[in-house]
Amino acid sequence: MIDTLRLTAEGAKDLLERKEVSGDELFAAYLAAIGERDPELHCYLHVCEDPGGAGIPIALKDVIGTRGIPTTAGSKILEGYVPVYDATVATRCKEHGLRVLGKTNTDEFAMGSSTENSAYGPTHNPWDPTRVPGGSGGGSAAAVSAGLAPWALGSDTGGSIKQPSALCGNVGLRPTYGTVSRYGIVAFASSLDQVGPVAKTVRDCAFLYSVIAGRDPCDSTTVESPEVVLPAGDDLKGLRVGVPKELNEHEAIEPGVRKAVEHAIELCRQLGAEVGECSLPRSVDFGLPCYYLIAPAEASSNLARYDGVRYGYRSPNSADRLDMYTHTRDEGFGDEPKRRILVGTYALSAGYYDAYYGQAQKVRTVIAREHAQAFENFDVLVTPTSPTVAFELGGRTADPLAMYASDLLTIPSCMAGLPGLNVPCGLSEGLPVGLQLIGPQFAENALFRVGHALEQAIGFDFVPERLR
Ligand code: GLN
Repeated sequence: MIDTLRLTAEGAKDLLERKEVSGDELFAAYLAAIGERDPELHCYLHVCEDPGGAGIPIALKDVIGTRGIPTTAGSKILEGYVPVYDATVATRCKEHGLRVLGKTNTDEFAMGSSTENSAYGPTHNPWDPTRVPGGSGGGSAAAVSAGLAPWALGSDTGGSIKQPSALCGNVGLRPTYGTVSRYGIVAFASSLDQVGPVAKTVRDCAFLYSVIAGRDPCDSTTVESPEVVLPAGDDLKGLRVGVPKELNEHEAIEPGVRKAVEHAIELCRQLGAEVGECSLPRSVDFGLPCYYLIAPAEASSNLARYDGVRYGYRSPNSADRLDMYTHTRDEGFGDEPKRRILVGTYALSAGYYDAYYGQAQKVRTVIAREHAQAFENFDVLVTPTSPTVAFELGGRTADPLAMYASDLLTIPSCMAGLPGLNVPCGLSEGLPVGLQLIGPQFAENALFRVGHALEQAIGFDFVPERLR
């Protein structure tokens, strides 16, 4: 009997190597778990037929283009779209023998923090189904914590891997901008989008990152990245850990979250790290407004391609071509993409470009410099990943600004192009709290080292209490 709730990818690899289970048995065990729990949780938008093979199963966020497998990005406008080619990350997974279980739910075009913006209905948090799993990659995070996939890929523009991993109690990495190919990914905001792994353990996360990272001639923004070192040590001697005070003392942070994060910081000290305070004074105040200009501006341009001619949905109710474009976009996009297309088009329009988009770009540089300065004295920075634990379904849907505020702590480092790792660091009100580790560019190995040592010291049980 395969316990998919507890089985890590590393554990699955062992079972396969020792021939205790076959690839087919493993795949079937996950399909059975999906059959049992996905009707309640709705992690998957599409479940695949077994492609065969001997490798470990994996789930892919539905913004990742997959040849012959529907790819909707959680939008009605891509309903019925079946890509004719694989995203590079999907190809790399397949080259490593990984078998695609299915495509996971996401906020429409990855715009959101709760997965409630999916045109196909929300995903529920496995720890408490009345709550959100976070977003936009809530489907991948919930699938991993409910044992419906041993690991998964997500995408992160402003926190969509880190924040759902925090709310669902698993490990998620947003890699350094440029280390993982976006070829074949449904584009949201191209200067920010990154693909990354979601897993139960830091080692699984590191391994999956090593599978997908590396230069890709099909994505000219990619570079070769340092070789991944699977973390094994349990001390943090010689490591300098910085605690940015504005991101740790912000009034939006719940007391229970603060407490769990403070405990993790204390553990860093006990494990031998040198811990000190630092400051990112403008990143917190300006990160969010700056992101919500730049990301919509880029989205308004990227989403121009959905016109009813080339992909997916086309409105049947049109008299002529212009009418067809208008109706297709009106009927195909949900409220959040529409809101962002409007904001972004405005911010880029003649007369406003300098005042909004131009200013935001300058602020972005300030945020990047502030982080670079902090890394002159520290190897890794720590903050909470999300100011709160998983919130109630429907709790923030009426107020877009309250929803945007979920990303307060994940956005600044994304704006700076830096890698970030979420590691579960305890419970508050019976729900997971996530610790965000931020490193300088290409310092994924340092994040894995700290994450792994903390994971051992904390001993977080990643199986949701109600499923144990
Ligand atoms: N929640 C943020 C947004 O709505 C980030 C989403 C993401 O990283 N894709 O834009």
